[in-house]
Amino acid sequence: MAAVEGEDTRLAYRTCPLCEAGCGLEVTLKSEAVHRIRGDMDDVFSHGFICPKGSTLKQLHEDPDWHRRPLVKRDDVFVEVDWVEAFATIEAGLLPIVEEHGRDAVAIYLGNPGAHCLAPMFFNRSLITALGTRNRFSASTVDQRPKEISSALMFGSVTVPVPDLDRTDFIVLLGANPYASNGSLCTAPDFPGRLKRIQERGGKVIVVDPRRSETARDADQHIAIRPGTDAHLLASIGHRLIVEELADPANVAEHCNGLDELDELLAPYCAETVGPICGIEPEEIRQLARDLASAPTAAVYGRIGTCTQEFGTLASWLVDIVNILSGNLDRAGGAMFTKGAVGQPSTKGEPRTGRGFRMGRVTSRVSNTPEAFGEFPVTVLPEEIETPGEGQVRALVTVAGNPVSSNPNSDRLDAALAGLEFMVAIDPYVNETTRHADVILPPPDALQKGHYDMALLNFAVRNVANYSPPVLPLEDGQMDEWQIMLNLAAVFAGEGLNADIEATDEGVAKAFLGSAARDPHGNVFERDVDEMLAMTGNHRGPERLLDISLRTGPYGDGFGIDPEGLTLDKLIANPHGVDLGELRPGRIPDNLRTPSGKIEIVPDKIREDLPRLAESMKRDRQDEIVLVGRRHVRSNNSWMHNVNVLMKGKNRCTMQIHPDDAGRLGISNGSPARVTSRVGEVIIDAELTDGIRPGVISIPHGFGQNMPGVQLRVATEYRGVNTNVLTDEYFRDEISGNIALNGVRVTVQPA
Ligand code: SF4
Repeated sequence: MAAVEGEDTRLAYRTCPLCEAGCGLEVTLKSEAVHRIRGDMDDVFSHGFICPKGSTLKQLHEDPDWHRRPLVKRDDVFVEVDWVEAFATIEAGLLPIVEEHGRDAVAIYLGNPGAHCLAPMFFNRSLITALGTRNRFSASTVDQRPKEISSALMFGSVTVPVPDLDRTDFIVLLGANPYASNGSLCTAPDFPGRLKRIQERGGKVIVVDPRRSETARDADQHIAIRPGTDAHLLASIGHRLIVEELADPANVAEHCNGLDELDELLAPYCAETVGPICGIEPEEIRQLARDLASAPTAAVYGRIGTCTQEFGTLASWLVDIVNILSGNLDRAGGAMFTKGAVGQPSTKGEPRTGRGFRMGRVTSRVSNTPEAFGEFPVTVLPEEIETPGEGQVRALVTVAGNPVSSNPNSDRLDAALAGLEFMVAIDPYVNETTRHADVILPPPDALQKGHYDMALLNFAVRNVANYSPPVLPLEDGQMDEWQIMLNLAAVFAGEGLNADIEATDEGVAKAFLGSAARDPHGNVFERDVDEMLAMTGNHRGPERLLDISLRTGPYGDGFGIDPEGLTLDKLIANPHGVDLGELRPGRIPDNLRTPSGKIEIVPDKIREDLPRLAESMKRDRQDEIVLVGRRHVRSNNSWMHNVNVLMKGKNRCTMQIHPDDAGRLGISNGSPARVTSRVGEVIIDAELTDGIRPGVISIPHGFGQNMPGVQLRVATEYRGVNTNVLTDEYFRDEISGNIALNGVRVTVQPA
């Protein structure tokens, strides 16, 4: 923080927590009110870049619909209460359900914004442990579980290679529109600028997308693929690399198990067969394989569109397979591994070995769907609520989630939530989901809490560490997010309303330190826990856990062993972040955590699912109309739609349709169209554009928030529909259970 222009003006620096890019913000405060937010020119990673959302932390802070005190529903109306009454209401409502029906009767759902907040990142586990339920769900099974599973199967932990944007000569983006999203599972502030610089240095950007997206418009080549066929295309590229003897995984070959199996497994995917399935000329597929192989360096990057489809895990796996075959995994300019400062499983424990990844240790009660990472896919949540019997879900806890908006067949989920006996939400808003809650516990807004992007900096295109302290204090009557979570955990654990959460917090810190001290490969092996705890000084809550994680991480000071190493205090002293350097090649094999110590090229789960991909090639797709999603740079799922400055301008919630399809179906530009799927129907304005492939329509997600009881005065006024009324909970990726949001079959008529 620095004083400027008079005594009542100061500057503060804050990493933007709104999306995965993690841009640095400079916040100007006058008389302790936020005056202006702009990009931090000195941020070591973003160098001043922000998108239109970045400056709206001010509007979020001032949003009158963002609650500051708990809400309890009485006679169907939310009323403000104090924290004691809120927790007492939860105790009275939830514990009898647990006593009568057991702990599995309470489910928990963790939403996406929690991945960008310190308290949930550290204390979700406390909440889950105290709850003791097997019915755990998260937004990860709506957008990224296939990638997490494929990388964990191959590398032994969630170790996702990211394209080395700043050095690559050739990048292929599938199912990704970073001009709108600013990147995902690839943390890169100013992703668009980094793509442009690839072109400026003579490289090529190829976009594979059914829509000519904002990113595709600036690309050197746009391949308008048929939705849901990315796995076929990638398999065909892999096959072509092999048959033309272009495959050269030399740099990692000795660390791979099963490379030679690929010849046979990819043999069915010749370009002649796959071309008509993907709607791409066979020669274009062959040429893409050759271009990938001949580029000095290249990276294939697949994102949400490759995950949210019926072959999501196979497509995610094939992204890495093509990077391996083209010789670009773990090399500069290729697909590389970030070495994050905190929380990366591939930097913990013994190098080159581990327990690997297992899933399906338990299955869901109703449809026997396997868990992964201790969670069931959220697609099974409605049936778990609706189906009577032992273990039926009767109550729900949500943390920063709006599943009614973001999950498939939202009408069914909405009705299921209405039938719950009790619901608690940690959330600032009364939205489509939390309107069903009996108690809402609002956390502070982003400017009121400290921040470190724990998860996302582990997928960054540069090794960086950056902590932001709170810019503004809590108001009277507010409770810090971590204290909300630990108080709630105490209620779940039956410790009552007077639990000593300071002691709980210290217990968690000691557990972190104890775990680090037991790791013979770590930097504090056999050190005294109490001595280290004392060295964390006045830090408490998530900040203390962050300090411990930094100090015991790969760049840490080891509690005094390396005076140059990272500590939280060092990050506080560097408000623009600490640059830890470019990604380094040669992370394999040390970062592998498979039992074999090798990259498992064809994990069993993949081998078992490949026949389904082959079988799908027989499907007649010619006369289908299928739905895909889209994103806008002014949106962030559903939860930024109450910010007026972002919602101004022309209606963004339109159905994009190709003029040929529109003409055939009798639909004109701007006229209402009726879109129907197996599960639902919406009426939406048509937008005719030749920027979408014939046979495909696109509707953005996160709209249609004008449901009874929602208290979002800007969002509810916005014209739009919820695309998840159309998506189908039973149309999903086989391995992960992740919903297939793309490729949903629909019919379209004039309304
Ligand atoms: S790109 Fe993401 S992190 Fe950067 S300013 Fe925009 S919302 Fe914030």
